[in-house]
Amino acid sequence: MKQCCRVEVARQPPEVPLLTDERWMRLALEHARRALEHDDVPVGAVLVHGEAVIGAGHNERELRQDPTAHAEMIAIRAGAAALGSWRLLDTVLYITLEPCAQCAGAIVLGRIPRVVFGALDPKAGAAGSVLDVLADPRLNHRPAVTSGVLGEECGDLLREFFRGRRTR
Ligand code: ZN
Repeated sequence: MKQCCRVEVARQPPEVPLLTDERWMRLALEHARRALEHDDVPVGAVLVHGEAVIGAGHNERELRQDPTAHAEMIAIRAGAAALGSWRLLDTVLYITLEPCAQCAGAIVLGRIPRVVFGALDPKAGAAGSVLDVLADPRLNHRPAVTSGVLGEECGDLLREFFRGRRTR
């Protein structure tokens, strides 16, 4: 976990945002599990504004046969519609898996101030694993990033999914 990321949310004692983060990550995990209903890789995302969920989604790539139908994209679109603005000010995006290049790009475009994710994606992650779109100083927006929140649980859900696929 990158320690620098905690600094920007340190207005409250550290244990308070952590509990809040875990609460929203549990909701993102619930959304991730819904992807299993249509045999999609279980990734979930929740976009929070204050205390309200303004967007949520799970991966629907297989369901829609759409390569862009990632959980984050669905949550971000819903959130922008709810706010009536492409600028997603004062929001936090919770994702069970490190965002890919597409979704990290959408996070930057939407000016999302803070991103919290669970498991790392060593194959496609664009928040430090393969690329670091969210921390690139050449871009005009850099969100605060917290990784590893319920990381074990988020990763286990993915591992179980892929294990089940191999034995089929
Ligand atoms: Zn993505």
